[in-house]
Amino acid sequence: MNLDFGPPVQAFRADVAAWLAANLPASPLPSVDTAEGFALHREWEARLAAAGLAAVSWPAEYGGRDASLLEWLVFEEEYHAAGGPVRVGQNGLFVLAPTLLAHGTAEQKARILPPMAAATEVWAQAWSEPDAGSDLAALRSRARRTDGGWLLSGQKTWSSRAVFADRAFGLFRSDPEEERHRGLTYLMFGLRADGVTVRPIPQLDGEPGFAEVFLDEVYVPDSDVIGEPGNGWRIAMSSAGHERGLPLRSPGRFTAAAARLARLWAGAGRPDDGIAGRVADAWIAARAYQLYGYQLASEPAGAAGPASGTGGAASGAQASLGKVFWSELDLSIHETALELLGPAAELKGTEASAWLDGYLFALAGPIYAGTNEIQRSLIAERVLGLPR
Ligand SMILES: Cc1cc2nc3c(=O)[nH]c(=O)nc-3n(C[C@H](O)[C@H](O)[C@H](O)COP(=O)(O)OP(=O)(O)OC[C@H]3O[C@@H](n4cnc5c(N)ncnc54)[C@H](O)[C@@H]3O)c2cc1C
Repeated sequence: MNLDFGPPVQAFRADVAAWLAANLPASPLPSVDTAEGFALHREWEARLAAAGLAAVSWPAEYGGRDASLLEWLVFEEEYHAAGGPVRVGQNGLFVLAPTLLAHGTAEQKARILPPMAAATEVWAQAWSEPDAGSDLAALRSRARRTDGGWLLSGQKTWSSRAVFADRAFGLFRSDPEEERHRGLTYLMFGLRADGVTVRPIPQLDGEPGFAEVFLDEVYVPDSDVIGEPGNGWRIAMSSAGHERGLPLRSPGRFTAAAARLARLWAGAGRPDDGIAGRVADAWIAARAYQLYGYQLASEPAGAAGPASGTGGAASGAQASLGKVFWSELDLSIHETALELLGPAAELKGTEASAWLDGYLFALAGPIYAGTNEIQRSLIAERVLGLPR
């Protein structure tokens, strides 16, 4: 494999690095799960969008740069290495957008993608319900036909950043008579529309990182259905592939974290009591995930560019492999860091406490985007071909 990416990609990398060096906020932004932090992250996204960097892999007509998968991977490496802020619009940018690019109408793409890139519209994912998490097809929220559209009723939960976000996308049961994976419709709705109640749920750190969303006869026009009514499950599985695969958690995030861990270890006097091996393992694993990304980029679909938002990034059951890998790697990087730091990690507001915040979030990695137990079943059945 030729890992010399050639002058255009190197130039793109240099441009991104230079822009980030000149524009990154001088100090870390407050948590995105606070009203103040959310607003500041939204402003940051607007600056990225103005520079054409909010969604580099999208087609230029929607605010992207037609970047190939390789260029997108390079952008992500630079972004995370520079310590760029959490992407407040991540559920929209990395889950809904590729879904719309693959299944949306021309009108939907033109209407929804530009404000998503500029973060004037931030999207939340409203899939989970109190009795439908791993078993998503058990969902009970309804979409009932009405003149020119649908009336949504029911309850969604664990919707990240929905407390402050503008709109949400989710699955609704439009035909209760049908078998459970059929009769589901993929719809988009406003979080401040009539009939919507959003109730915050605090996360481990006390901030309202989640919301429950209650819907009571919320009107949604036909133009906000993605794909055909009743075909929502198939489209949702393509969204899930983006959520589990490279797009939501790119390799750059982990190569940057592993490099920070190596610096932390060096700064702690390079202890060699077994922890050195764990630091090296984390670095090697992050590098392996990076090379896996490059491998995907070298395949024909990767070179094809923005057809799915991030070129040929892994999706389907293959994405489950990546999801288990990155979520367990993230946890092990943060556990090793906390061990190196000892009690210092518990001092709030210090550089060290960023590792504790990261650890609390890393604990959720094996749960969100479909739990790792479920991913292991998918890998067993669909990748390895083992019996159910
Ligand atoms: C940080 C975070 C952010 C999230 N953000 C969102 C969001 O934005 N939008 C959204 O819709 N949802 C979101 N979720 C919800 C997430 O998708 C669900 O928590 C997840 O799918 C698991 O569902 P559940 O919580 O209902 O657990 P359950 O499905 O009740 O599972 C409980 C336990 O049982 C295990 N289990 C269940 N079924 C099986 C099986 N068949 N085989 C083996 N083990 C099984 C699970 O692995 C898990 O360990 C988020 C969750 C977290 C932690």
